[in-house]
Amino acid sequence: MKLKELKNEAENCKKCDLWKNRKKVVFGEGPENAKIMIIGLGPGYYENLYGKPFVGAAGKLLNNLLEEANLKRENIYITNVVKCYLPNNKVTEDQVKICTSNYLDKQISLINPQFILALGNVSVNYLFNKFKLLIKPMKEIHGEVFKTSNLFIIPMYHPASALRNPKLKETLINDWKKLKSILQMLN
Ligand code: URA
Ligand code: SF4
Repeated sequence: MKLKELKNEAENCKKCDLWKNRKKVVFGEGPENAKIMIIGLGPGYYENLYGKPFVGAAGKLLNNLLEEANLKRENIYITNVVKCYLPNNKVTEDQVKICTSNYLDKQISLINPQFILALGNVSVNYLFNKFKLLIKPMKEIHGEVFKTSNLFIIPMYHPASALRNPKLKETLINDWKKLKSILQMLN
């Protein structure tokens, strides 16, 4: 199955109860052969309206962070753990399991990236489980590189949590500055 077919399937999806909240499915966007994937949590208010990932306040901060790391947004495949609107940024284990087994797992296989930037706890936990890495608290692993058999995972604080906490924002900006040299070194 191709990415486009998978996107079509997601756009009509009712596999979990989150479909009831959504206006537009946010499948993800970016080149099919992207070297880097960014995986957030799920669509917020504006993402739900536009059908695109990270277009609200957290998205603006993400754009600045990408600049800090010298990365171009259009070269990166950006998506989320779940594809339908999360009114309070809350998601259940079941919703994560259903949505990722139908969509995100397949997106990762099809894109086959070298690097995945995991934004926030839900994304980090999903990826660490998937690749059988030992889960640790975010404060111990943010900005570090974790190697799996065929890619690198880099956990990062979620930009939305940095918007609520200025100290965290500073840490986040430093992590993304560091990312620039990490990517150069591993590439
Ligand atoms: N937060 C996310 O996790 N994803 C988005 O697409 C927007 C906000
Ligand atoms: Fe389908 Fe995922 Fe939306 Fe649930 S969140 S309805 S599994 S696309």
